[in-house]
Amino acid sequence: MQVSIVVPIYDERENVERLYAALMQVLPKLRRSYEIIFVNDGSRDGTAQLLDAIAVRDMDLKVIHFRRNFGQTAAISAGLDYAKGDVIIMLDGDLQNDPADIPMLLAKIDEGYDLVHGWRKHRQDALVSRKIPSKIANWIIANVTGFPVHDLGCTLKAMRREIAQDLRLYGEMHRFIPILAHWQGARCAEVETRHHPRLFGETKYGIWRTVRVVLDLITVKFMIQYSTSPMKLFGGFGLLSTMGSAAACAGAVAMKWLGGIDMTGNPLLLLSGLLGIAGIQFLVLGLLGEVAARTYFESQGMRPYRVRQTRNFEPPRVLEGQEAIAELYQRVA
Ligand code: UDP
Ligand code: MG
Repeated sequence: MQVSIVVPIYDERENVERLYAALMQVLPKLRRSYEIIFVNDGSRDGTAQLLDAIAVRDMDLKVIHFRRNFGQTAAISAGLDYAKGDVIIMLDGDLQNDPADIPMLLAKIDEGYDLVHGWRKHRQDALVSRKIPSKIANWIIANVTGFPVHDLGCTLKAMRREIAQDLRLYGEMHRFIPILAHWQGARCAEVETRHHPRLFGETKYGIWRTVRVVLDLITVKFMIQYSTSPMKLFGGFGLLSTMGSAAACAGAVAMKWLGGIDMTGNPLLLLSGLLGIAGIQFLVLGLLGEVAARTYFESQGMRPYRVRQTRNFEPPRVLEGQEAIAELYQRVA
């Protein structure tokens, strides 16, 4: 299998047939083997039946039905898990992304990139509630993570399967896929993609999404910078806080000895106590973080590095993910 198309779908009754038709305009012409994976994220408007009807006609169309609505990130995550293609392409199920861009994405992958993400330069959405908050959020994210990106909200992307397999997506994390992949060493490229207004059905998000994305940014920043060593972050705060505590304490003592100011009424004493406790808290948090990091990596058989290629090696002794866990079970049994 060369190409997998992954589409998250939630209540898109009017769109699924049209999307399928649009994909069929493009995919057969690629001259590559392909599969289409529609992930039905708990739709309740009859979308499920429509998808099943197409799946009966076309064996290259695969459908995953969720038990309930788990969100777009979960839907994409499932699609990535089930995909068999060497290259995985994902796009929205509401026809806002254009399947006609697929050949261009594949050409870019063929140039040697691991991940190609879209930029809806001429985005067709509401200005005040969507485009402006999105511009601001993208600007903040690009600056905080140091990853030059214009449009993280564009679902249309292509990536190699090795990259997709290593992604662990929670919350609204599918928006951060290019950044997470880049952190794992993927060669990323951004391309301008087409974008159409939504003609049928309704958007599933409001302005609050931007706030949630910014909250996820904190997690991502932590993951890409401190996940292997949380002590570097919390320990820093802890040391600063402890030093602040010592300084405040020294100040209070000096004021008592030199100025005769009673310590009990001196705010510096309070500050010293507060910073001292906070400092210990931070250091302990750092230690707990270190323990959690080890559990996180080792329970999944993950490594803190990603190998692109090796030469003249036997297959590595280090097993990835599920295999490692399966092996562990066997050893215990
Ligand atoms: N979607 C989904 N689960 C959800 C919300 C959305 O699978 O909980 C799908 C939706 O059907 C569409 C895509 O994700 O195919 C993007 O959603 P939407 O068009 O509402 O987002 P927007 O384009 O407005 O950012
Ligand atoms: Mg949309």
